[in-house]
Amino acid sequence: MNSADADSLAEQFSELGMVPGVELENADLAVLVTCAVRQHAEDRASSHLGELAAWKSARPGRGIALTGCMVGEHGSALLRRFRHLDYVFDMREPEGFFARLRDLYQGALEGPVPLPASDRLFAYLPVILGCNEMCTYCIVPFVRGRESSRPAAQVEAEARHLVERGVVEITLLGQNVNSYESPEDGSGLAELMTRVDRVPGLRRLRFLTSHPRNASDRLLDAIADLPTACEQLHLPVQSGSDSCLGRMKREYSVAEYLAVLERARARVEGISLSTDVIVGFCGESEAEFQDTLQMLAAVRFDTVHIQAYSPRPGTAAYRRSDDVPLAVKKERLQAVLELQRRISDERNQALVGQTVEVLVEGTGSDGRAFGRTRQNRVAWLEEPAGPGEVVTVRVTSASAWQLVAA
Ligand code: SAM
Ligand code: SF4
Repeated sequence: MNSADADSLAEQFSELGMVPGVELENADLAVLVTCAVRQHAEDRASSHLGELAAWKSARPGRGIALTGCMVGEHGSALLRRFRHLDYVFDMREPEGFFARLRDLYQGALEGPVPLPASDRLFAYLPVILGCNEMCTYCIVPFVRGRESSRPAAQVEAEARHLVERGVVEITLLGQNVNSYESPEDGSGLAELMTRVDRVPGLRRLRFLTSHPRNASDRLLDAIADLPTACEQLHLPVQSGSDSCLGRMKREYSVAEYLAVLERARARVEGISLSTDVIVGFCGESEAEFQDTLQMLAAVRFDTVHIQAYSPRPGTAAYRRSDDVPLAVKKERLQAVLELQRRISDERNQALVGQTVEVLVEGTGSDGRAFGRTRQNRVAWLEEPAGPGEVVTVRVTSASAWQLVAA
């Protein structure tokens, strides 16, 4: 979401006449798009901000702005905490910030500057903002607000615009993307995907992130049937224990979650499945954690994103005791990582000898081209290929996190 926000800011800067994305040493203005989902993300933003103090004082006229989820959490208190910070603005309402820039730089700006035509092959396209769920550990509903779906016609027009500018892969985005409901006619994500799929020139379509409660058969069929829809589903489970899921207020049981995956595997041939897991949530017992390990071993996801629970002020869980010691959180994190490394390795090894479709993204420092398969696996190519090319290749070797193909 922050990456999509940064892209949208870049467009607005260029409309104003400012060149986005220049090297920091040549820039007049630094904009930090922050995340508040875990304390670690906030600490990193604060430390970047600290480092920018020297950059700002090195040349008169430089400014620093901050936006993103930390603004929703701390608001203008950030200006008092960080004295060298000049602007704080809500990403949902950036107009005031741009109006101030317009006033400030009046005369120095000569109208819109073009964005580089070939700046990207991939784009995130937000389709639903905010989140109506109330998972007890999560700060998102407090900093991003209630769900609000964008009109399907607007999304489709933006997709066309992106593809005309060279984008070949679009990821439809939302904190809870599969609760998308078009304000025009109430149609859902599957219908929206059908519209975007038809945009001429689009090669691949993905969506992120889904809530297990809303994973309908209609959506699974869209993945299976639409030519651009990639055979991939990211479905955060968070825990493999019903009691823990209850405390997290996830509103599904492990059995219900597993039933969705079963339907996904039955309906979409070769689908790759990935998930998010939080270890060390308030009160997570050893038995509950073992349930999570067992579930992961049974499902055999392609990828698992693992986080240690981080208490967030204002959330329901913040009032509970963060009672799993850090050392135990780290042990559990390590245990999930090790299990998943083995599973991902086995799943990738099973692909050796098979053909995969790779969309080339770029060239690594060793001169080899790399890209991603439709299932979102990273693949390194033994033959040269240029960014944007789609090649069908045979997997020659594999490791837990990537494939090599020729
Ligand atoms: N909407 C998605 C869902 O239903 O799970 C996920 C969005 S959330 C911003 C991204 C991931 O961050 C979550 O899946 C969760 O694993 C992690 N996360 C959120 N709050 C967290 C917290 N307080 N501590 C650790 N991880 C957290
Ligand atoms: Fe946070 Fe996702 Fe739960 Fe919404 S559904 S509250 S974004 S974890």
